[in-house]
Amino acid sequence: MDCIFCKIISGNIPSYKVYEDENVLAFLDINPVNAGHTLVIPKKHFASIENISQEDLSEVIKIVKKIGKAIKRGLKVQGYNVMMNNGFVAGQIVPHIHFHLVPRIVNDGLKLWPQGKYGEGKANVILKKIKSAF
Ligand code: 5GP
Ligand code: ZN
Repeated sequence: MDCIFCKIISGNIPSYKVYEDENVLAFLDINPVNAGHTLVIPKKHFASIENISQEDLSEVIKIVKKIGKAIKRGLKVQGYNVMMNNGFVAGQIVPHIHFHLVPRIVNDGLKLWPQGKYGEGKANVILKKIKSAF
């Protein structure tokens, strides 16, 4: 398969591996937002969080927790962002699901998304649409 992350898993593309086990790989992002920016991926290829089984996802999340703790302790940062982009419109460039762990430093200047407010009655309309699709 022509997937960059599958090639990293197989060793065809080199990476700085932070952690590896039977199911999960964590490695440094090649273009870090902050030093230590780590990607955590399942070794099986899934395009989106909707496709991965609960079992496989739970293996990945277990390692997200482990790496998060190590980032805090090892890099002496107070916090980190965990983020997953799903779909091209959401900024997903590599179609092999991955969690971004971005270490945060006080005053690092990183701004997250701007937020708005719901207009009158809008929240209920949105709520109905989401709940009707379960
Ligand atoms: P996305 O935008 O899909 O959520 O994130 C993909 C991430 O993969 C980007 O942050 C990008 O820097 C990283 N990336 C892309 N290609 C490579 C690569 O060959 N090696 C590593 N280590 N990271 C990569
Ligand atoms: Zn893949």
